[in-house]
Amino acid sequence: MRSSILIIYTGGTIGMKTDAETGALVPFDFSGIYDEFPSLRRLNVDIDIHTISPIIDSSNVTPANWIELAEIIRDNYTRYDGFVVLHGTDTMSYSASALSFLLENLSKPVVFTGSQIPIGVLRTDGRENLITAIEIAGTRRSNHPEMAMVPEVSLYFQNRLFRANRSTKRSAEALSAFRSNNYPALAEVGVNITYNSTAIHYPQQPDETELKIATRLGDGIEIIKLFPGMSEQMLHAMLTAPGLNAVVLETFGAGNAPTKQWFIREIEEAIRRGIYVVNITQCGSGNVSMNLYDTGIHLQQIGVISGHDLTTEAACTKLMYVLGKNLSREETMELLRKPLRGEFTL
Ligand code: ASP
Repeated sequence: MRSSILIIYTGGTIGMKTDAETGALVPFDFSGIYDEFPSLRRLNVDIDIHTISPIIDSSNVTPANWIELAEIIRDNYTRYDGFVVLHGTDTMSYSASALSFLLENLSKPVVFTGSQIPIGVLRTDGRENLITAIEIAGTRRSNHPEMAMVPEVSLYFQNRLFRANRSTKRSAEALSAFRSNNYPALAEVGVNITYNSTAIHYPQQPDETELKIATRLGDGIEIIKLFPGMSEQMLHAMLTAPGLNAVVLETFGAGNAPTKQWFIREIEEAIRRGIYVVNITQCGSGNVSMNLYDTGIHLQQIGVISGHDLTTEAACTKLMYVLGKNLSREETMELLRKPLRGEFTL
């Protein structure tokens, strides 16, 4: 059975090629994709291209772009079997994480990919990333051909498919630019594509298959990374910034922070003012356990929320998504305390 795929091109290195005459990098025209990559015709898929306007370097991405992407997917949802989002690598994990929350009841693949070397450069990694992302987005389950193999938001890069909200850009240089330290890859690509079906989320309920999207994201989020020597004055300034609603607190090790009185007081007062504080570890991998050391127990006692093994990208975009719902404090806390799209391990 053929699958139909919509490629949504947003910008980034993957969309560049070298101009034959000037040698300069110029945007690649994805509407000529079959001429550039004739081998695509051999895949069992039909491809359409949607280019956002204007295309952007991903450092310029804003939450408004995420809502636009969610709307494009919603408006084309019944027409396609899967979606491939071509995106700059710099903030790809933020965008992919955000889409994992915005797309509620997703039952079709949305695969983000990009490249470290422009697609129009001979040694590009973009060709393989693009072709495999398309193949993954179009693959169905062999025992349930009506269902997609990976019906969630994922990120494909250099032979690995990750759950989007578990991914992080790890290298500005290596072709394997992304990692997912706290969750296994959803697929490994070698001679064959090996899917890790026990790690993939499959919708259980029939009502889980009707796509809904959230169209509002909350703002006033800060990411505060602790370091030895952070001063009371600086922390106070960050926690009393106008418009602040929530903080992603990047703590040490297993969720530890200084036990100094001023530090605990500043955080406690912020929480009393209604600010949500989510504790994640600044280590690349591992979990927050606030009941291990005295330095974590203090945070738990004053109402800091455990972020378990969330990435910074997932913590930040989840806060935007949950705050965008305008719920009561209790309902907000409930959503922050449980995984919504497999973004953390309890
Ligand atoms: N600056 C580019 C971007 O993120 C880098 C890339 O695509 O790899 O848009």
